[in-house]
Amino acid sequence: DSRKYTGIVEDCCCDYETVDSLNGEVLHPLLQELVTTPFFRYFKVKLWCDCPFWPDDGMCRLRDCSVCECPENEFPETFKKPLPSDDLVCQEGKPQATVDRTVDSKAFRGWMVIDNPWTNDDETDNSEMTYVNLQLNPERYTGYVGPSARRIWDAVYSENCPKYSSGEICQEKKVLYKLISGLHSSISIHIAADYLLDESTNLWGQNLELMYDRVLRYPDRVRNLYFTFLFVLRAVTKAADFLEQAEYDTGNNAEDLKAQSLMRQLLYNPKLQAACPLPFDEAKLWQGQSGPELKQQIQKQFKNISSLMDCVGCEKCRLWGKLQVLGLGTALKILFSVDGQNHPDQILHLQRNEVIALVNLLNRLSESVKLVQEMGPSAENIMGGL
Ligand code: FAD
Repeated sequence: DSRKYTGIVEDCCCDYETVDSLNGEVLHPLLQELVTTPFFRYFKVKLWCDCPFWPDDGMCRLRDCSVCECPENEFPETFKKPLPSDDLVCQEGKPQATVDRTVDSKAFRGWMVIDNPWTNDDETDNSEMTYVNLQLNPERYTGYVGPSARRIWDAVYSENCPKYSSGEICQEKKVLYKLISGLHSSISIHIAADYLLDESTNLWGQNLELMYDRVLRYPDRVRNLYFTFLFVLRAVTKAADFLEQAEYDTGNNAEDLKAQSLMRQLLYNPKLQAACPLPFDEAKLWQGQSGPELKQQIQKQFKNISSLMDCVGCEKCRLWGKLQVLGLGTALKILFSVDGQNHPDQILHLQRNEVIALVNLLNRLSESVKLVQEMGPSAENIMGGL
């Protein structure tokens, strides 16, 4: 077997081979379909934000940086009829691009609006929130490079989760570092998988060299990607009771039933339960004496990372940065903020946007794992041989 990664994913409970086959056969196809349903494709986000750390220095080179918002007539009325395919163009700058800020009272019945203790944005504050159709704004290469982008990653790593040196740091801090590093790998893989190869002809495609240079040549970064995937997968399955009963109601019956059915297939998947019933074991953490303080400290650090997303100088990167950080914050909340076993009075409540972020994050990670599995060997062969 020519596999490069074998054995158990560090600090997790399943091995690389199992993750690859489960993902390829079950998780990836389910998630890909789930995120196209109306419930999961509209994300509420505050895109225009003041960076609390540095003056704004938008560093976008490509027009592809900007995000198309949902025009008022699209949301939620067109839930009832599918979008004509030629509508899949940016509405930016057109009069119909005005944002509907009243949707919350019109749609999504049955959801609570509560603040997530792990993230910076106040999710209960609807002013300045806009709705973005994620299907029209894929995460890919945007041309956001240079000191502005570098500064964010540097701040994320150096101020919030310095790379642990082996044996020196506690398990919990290691988890935070690995989650961020795994997310970073995933973002880099998406940039490499959907890259502007030739600006003059607008040719997009895979950039194996970039994937190798940024991720594959560092086995740790690949391992952290698998770790983050399993961590988020565990959060989703741990929240199964909540997610099964949640209302995926957008007014489009057929699509809403489809979302619910796909969600069930994901949550109670026999193959997943047989091969990897506990993707990550959160019960092992916070056991030491300083557990509660440590949790507070890490929560604060994660909040800082969340507020750094306001400084990302490219709109589309900010959109996906915010979504994925909220997704991670939701996973952290599920695994660490609610303890129904020891405290039966604590019941898990997730808000709609948290669920959308969580599932879309899991899908992005699942895609990255698949891309590494598929493109990895050829990228390693080409680049490693040079
Ligand atoms: P960077 O990816 O900026 O990495 C900086 C440094 O971090 C590296 O030199 C290395 O020391 C360390 N590092 C890199 N990867 C890892 C890892 N996995 N684990 C641990 N350490 C690591 N650009 C786009 O084109 N599209 C996007 O959608 C996009 N989204 C972004 C979202 C966020 C939140 C941020 C901060 C940036 C985003 N960018 C996006 C920019 C992109 O991530 C890179 O910063 C940019 O492409 C420049 O890359 P780089 O080669 O300088 O290395």
